[in-house]
Amino acid sequence: MVIIGSGFAGLAAAIQAKRLGARDVVIFEKMPFFGGNSSINGGLFAVPNSALQRQEGIQDSPEQMVSDQVQAGRGIAYRELLLHIARHAHEAMQLTVDAGAEYFPYLQQLGGHSVPRTYQTTVACGAGITQPLLRECRKLGVKLVNRARFDSFVFDQGGAVVGARILRGYYFGRGVEGSPSHIRSRRGLLIATGGFASNVDLRSTEDPTLTAEVGTTNLPCSTGEALLEMFRVGAVPVHMTHIQTGPWASPDEEGFGYVSNYSIYNFAHSISVSVSTGRRFMNEIADRKTRADAQLANRDAQGEPLPPITITSYEHAREHPTMEKVLKYGVGWRFDSLDAVADHFNVPLEPLQDQVEEYNGYVDAGVDRQFGKSMEKARGKHLKPPFVVVRNWPKVHYCQGGARVDVHARVLDSGAFEPIPGLYAAGEVTGGVHGVSRLGSCSIPDCMVMGMTATRSMLET
Ligand SMILES: Cc1cc2nc3c(=O)[nH]c(=O)nc-3n(C[C@H](O)[C@H](O)[C@H](O)COP(=O)(O)OP(=O)(O)OC[C@H]3O[C@@H](n4cnc5c(N)ncnc54)[C@H](O)[C@@H]3O)c2cc1C
Repeated sequence: MVIIGSGFAGLAAAIQAKRLGARDVVIFEKMPFFGGNSSINGGLFAVPNSALQRQEGIQDSPEQMVSDQVQAGRGIAYRELLLHIARHAHEAMQLTVDAGAEYFPYLQQLGGHSVPRTYQTTVACGAGITQPLLRECRKLGVKLVNRARFDSFVFDQGGAVVGARILRGYYFGRGVEGSPSHIRSRRGLLIATGGFASNVDLRSTEDPTLTAEVGTTNLPCSTGEALLEMFRVGAVPVHMTHIQTGPWASPDEEGFGYVSNYSIYNFAHSISVSVSTGRRFMNEIADRKTRADAQLANRDAQGEPLPPITITSYEHAREHPTMEKVLKYGVGWRFDSLDAVADHFNVPLEPLQDQVEEYNGYVDAGVDRQFGKSMEKARGKHLKPPFVVVRNWPKVHYCQGGARVDVHARVLDSGAFEPIPGLYAAGEVTGGVHGVSRLGSCSIPDCMVMGMTATRSMLET
């Protein structure tokens, strides 16, 4: 069985294949290292109706999670796929735990989720999952080949995918193309090559606002050539224009950095404030698109970006390990008073003071009358000095678009809307699952469940 790409989707598929008795399982990865974006991700994993939720008395269900996702997806997410993923999320998480992944013993409530349902690895990073999965792959005898770039498909005379042209010895970014070899796969081919956020030509063709000036949280390897190859052989492109920007990113560091994870944790009990008005301008835990759109509207008279600030009580910020990193690397700052915050960021002081007082009233009442934010995780958490402050500005983060697959992870053909024989896809390379906007922590279950699903389908044929 041949798998292209070594992120969550590819690794989960390979482990599942070995567990189901596949003899030869090979992962080809174009980079010198394994893990892709999955290894630098935030390690946030949504599981509905989990053991921790039951322990904390939180009512949830796969249907409720899907309803949150469809709302964030502005109604165009594929409910059938989402339900399949939500119903198997627990099984996927168990696969990571069995491989040695460890999670914090508490749940987080991320933007757009109606309840706390998100686990996070104890290293607050996706490597807390990919490293154990890689070890498990090696233990089970999965063959891992790096610097091997998928180039094109090999078909049999009946039009079924039976292999791939692989460029071995490829060196990403160094102009070394490698030498071609043709690999036969008796069980079809699984494309698990991730998104295309780093392909500026492609993303700005789909969304002309996403030029090279807009930063990205993704690794440079997210270039989407395998996706384009699937389109060339007939796969249906879906939702390609829906490219998500992350509202927790910072203009003060490259990539995902430290502020992203810090903000994801802290938004629930913090306020984001416009530096020109000193007032809040959004629900800090709305879905990503709602927040990113609201942030991007923060501009000066010339239309230049005016990144808003997020203010958190030091007492609560320090609960998460990323605070120390944010302060250490100078991408967040500690202040002893609101006067000092206002002075540093040139924010009008009086409106800022009024805003903090007003917000603390919402904390007491348990109701946010300004933006309707869920105050579940803000309960008892007044904003008070000392404060930690970061700046936020969206970066290109996730591609909701990709190739259309069915619930068996089979890639559908744009002519007949039937599966292309032998061609399977899983993870961010697929499209339509999340609609207009993906909810945070919902890609890991998507990639893992659909990787495992693809394996089942491939071994059944
Ligand atoms: C910084 C960051 C933080 C994130 N945090 C979270 C989070 O906490 N929770 C969550 O749910 N989601 C998160 N996401 C989203 C999630 O991490 C990704 O959607 C997910 O990792 C995609 O996994 P994948 O297996 O589809 O692809 P990837 O992990 O991107 O792996 C694809 C692999 O395929 C390889 N490849 C590409 N083309 C070829 C080719 N032609 N030949 C051979 N190999 C190829 C790539 O080099 C790469 O290694 C985050 C994303 C980023 C960037």
